[in-house]
Formats: sequence, structure tokens, C-alpha cells
Amino acid sequence: MSDKLIYLDSAATTAVDKSIAEIALKYYTDDFYNPSSLYKQAHVVKRQLEDAAARIGRLLGADGGDIVFTSCATESNNYALECGYKNKKGNLVISGGEHASVYEKAMNIKSGGRDVRIVPLKPDGRVDGEKLLAAVDENTALVSVIHVSNETGAINDAADLCKRVKDKNKRAVFHSDGVQAFCKLNIDLQSTGIDLYSVSAHKVGGLKGVGALYVKKGFNMKPFIVGGGQQGNRRSGTENVGGIVSFAAAAELYKSKAACFNAKAVYNYLVTQIKSELDYAIINGSADSGNCYILSVSFPGIKGEVLAHMLEEKGILIGLGSACSTHVKQSRVHLQLGLSQKETEGSIRISLSPDNTVDEIKYAASELMAAVKKLKGIIDG
Ligand code: PLP
Repeated sequence: MSDKLIYLDSAATTAVDKSIAEIALKYYTDDFYNPSSLYKQAHVVKRQLEDAAARIGRLLGADGGDIVFTSCATESNNYALECGYKNKKGNLVISGGEHASVYEKAMNIKSGGRDVRIVPLKPDGRVDGEKLLAAVDENTALVSVIHVSNETGAINDAADLCKRVKDKNKRAVFHSDGVQAFCKLNIDLQSTGIDLYSVSAHKVGGLKGVGALYVKKGFNMKPFIVGGGQQGNRRSGTENVGGIVSFAAAAELYKSKAACFNAKAVYNYLVTQIKSELDYAIINGSADSGNCYILSVSFPGIKGEVLAHMLEEKGILIGLGSACSTHVKQSRVHLQLGLSQKETEGSIRISLSPDNTVDEIKYAASELMAAVKKLKGIIDG
């Protein structure tokens, strides 16, 4: 292999292609105008923002008017949980597999006295649909279910869960965190009842610090951030024009590359290799639940951190559990899957991007196997 690093941590963030960075740069240099200003140059910039919203909307199966740009998906998720429903006394129902930006926000709301119901995951990493429905009642204000788990890659059928929730309580608002699904799975929000959907630019080759929230047409959401009334008063603050316009371009590029990348085949290859050589390995979340871009695996007895450093020496970069929660000792998601502390400590997360090549994957798989065997040999004596 060359000296080029093999990057297998794309669920944490992705590289920005130079062509995308150049699009962003243009809006900080030549076309730096404030889109709310009066002159022609500013109107041109404003139209670019509208165009970006339409393009992101198209990728989500929605219209531009349904898109609110935010500073990141963490903000989109916080916005949804804070402002995404009128029934301010109603209960909130979330899955136990939510990203911290939903989970901690829900805990925050709970500490203010609200009834927040957390629905456990099944061993395959998906939320238990029956328990989710049992938690929903006539007083449920909002339900939030992550579309693709950032920790295990498990895919929840957000559209189906939304339908079942609304069959039980048609006033309940349905939000899904789509950060790890966007541009990877086919999403057609308008054909579902999903009311709110969060995405992030830096997971699809866009800039860090840019996100969006899809808000279903006719859904009159109060703002979370107030001020100058930008974006139809849904989110104040001068828009990050370069970040937003380049987000649209990055997402389109990512989607076109993803169409030619067989993530499921790569995922299956890795699982088969690992299982055939390391029979004690545990695939976290079922390999059958549709997972493709994210593979979480535990090697009990081994420290994931040590393994990650060994692979780094070989030029391979991987993640542990989730990049956003490396300081958390026992992962909340792993606990629900029944993993012991030891199994969590021995877990790594490999996450793919359409830029990964077959050669990279083969090399990484063989180095992974060698490193685990070496560590296991040391431990078992
Ligand atoms: N939701 C999920 C599923 C994520 O994986 C992440 C980031 O890792 C976020 C939300 C937060 O995204 P951002 O970094 O844009 O705040």
C-alpha cells in the first residue's frame, strides 16, 4: 500500500473535496454579500441559498421551502425536540438508540418535569417497534427515532414507524435523525408522514458547522434561535452562505458516488472475514438489519483503543463506538444490546465512504485480523 492513510471513520466526519471547498470559498471572497441586503449582488446570493435549499430538498424528496438551515445537526435535533410540537404538556417518546444531541436534549426536557419515555433497542440494534407503539398514547407530543444508528449502523424503518405512530395518535409529531442515512439510503420524505428530519453537511463531504432540518409543509414551527428573522423567521442569524451552497454541491456529489459504491457488499465482506477468522468476535447489532456503511464489532478481552492505535501505525484510521461519545465509558447503546463492559471496551467502529477502494478494504481487513490475533495471543499467553 502507498503512504496514503486509509480512512475508515466516515461516520465521524468526511473530507471536503477541493471542488466543494472552492464553491464555499467563493461566498467568503467574491460573493461575500449578506443575503438579506438590498442590492443586486445580495439578491444573487439569496437566490443561491434558495437554490441550495431546493437541491437539499430534492435529495430528501422534499421542496426547498421545507428546509431550514442550521449550524449543525446537533442544532437541528435540539430544535426539533424543543420546538417541534404544540402540545407543550405532552409526553415525548424517543428510542434508546438516539444520538446524544437528541438523548441529552430529551434528558434536559425531562429534568424540567416533562414525561419522557425511552424505548429500548432490540438485540439487532433497532428500536423495538411494539414497545415504541405501547409508549405512544393520546398525550404524546413527539416521537423521535434515529434513522441509521451512528454506533451500530442499524437501520430503523422510520417511514413505517411514523405511520404506525400516527395511526395511534395522528397529532403526534414524528422526528427522525437522518444524519447517517442522508445520501446513503433513498429517502422520499414527502411520501411519508415524517414531520421533521435532521441532516448534517460534514458527514457527506460538506463543511463542518452546517446542518439542516426538514420541516413538513404546513407545519408552523416556532423558532429556536430568534433575532433578525432570517429563513422565514424559522432560524435567525446571517446564513452561512458558503457552507450552505457547498453543502448542496457536496451532498449531490456524495449521492452520485454512493450510487456506484456497493456498501452492503463491503460490509458483508468485512463481516465474513472477521467471522471466519475470529470466531469470538461479536457483530454489534445484527448484520441482517440492513446495515451497510457502519460496522461495529467487539473483540472481548482486547482493548479497542489499543487495537485502533495498532491500526493507526499501519495507516488505517478507525473509530471506537461513536466519535461524539468517546469520553463515555459504557455506551448506552451497547448496554441495551446486552454487551458487557469488557465487550464495549473491545469494540471498534469501522465506517465507510464511497471513496474507499476495494484494495483499501482488503488491506484494512488483513491488518485488522493480524492485529487482533497478535493482541489475543499476548492476552491469552
Ligand atoms: N446525529 C447523528 C446520528 C450523528 O452521527 C451526529 C454526529 O456524529 C450528529 C447527529 C451530530 O451532527 P453534527 O456534528 O452536525 O452536530
